[in-house]
Amino acid sequence: MRRGILFILSGPSGSGKGTVLSRLFSKHPEIKYSVSMTTREPRPGEMHGINYYFVSREDFEKRINNGELLEYATFDGNYYGTPKKEIESFLERGIDVILEIEVKGAMQVLERAKDAVAIMITPPDIQTLEKWLRGRGTNSEESINERLTTAKEEIRCLPKYHYSVINEESKQDECAELIYSIMQAEHHKTVHTSKIMSKFE
Ligand code: 5GP
Repeated sequence: MRRGILFILSGPSGSGKGTVLSRLFSKHPEIKYSVSMTTREPRPGEMHGINYYFVSREDFEKRINNGELLEYATFDGNYYGTPKKEIESFLERGIDVILEIEVKGAMQVLERAKDAVAIMITPPDIQTLEKWLRGRGTNSEESINERLTTAKEEIRCLPKYHYSVINEESKQDECAELIYSIMQAEHHKTVHTSKIMSKFE
């Protein structure tokens, strides 16, 4: 049976990656989303164990010390991290896993899991990103400027990713399918398919 592949998906705040991912998972429910742990407060409608595991700083720091996290980073004053538990067992069972994490965490995963595949999702340009951030209506002027500055820094890391995809306005389904195609293509790399040779001996 084929082994699953660990995929990293990053993109600036406001790039629409959440919507693209929800389209991807609803069409391809066999893909596993890795639920992260965070110390930030839940937003209205977010559920523990579904969107995030919401924990205290003390709890988070205990897990760092116990080596329970594959990676972690601070973002906007809070801890965010990926629990190691479960990921390996999904991969062994042939299930692809997606980590939706920011750039610093992504770099840690690429160091530790050499066969992970990193994809960056970007808006078409900085003007569109600003429009989308304002359109949310939930961010203050200060927070919008902060996120735009962070976005520029994050996009500069694009060459460290294996792939990048543009989330064109109103084309989230196309973007989700493009990501799915990349995931399938990765499984057909000869490093994953060479076993077929034994059937021709
Ligand atoms: P938000 O607070 O908007 O849900 O997430 C803020 C940022 O944290 C996003 O860029 C998101 O990709 C990132 N993030 C979410 N989970 C993790 C994680 O487990 N590790 C890291 N390094 N970043 C994460």
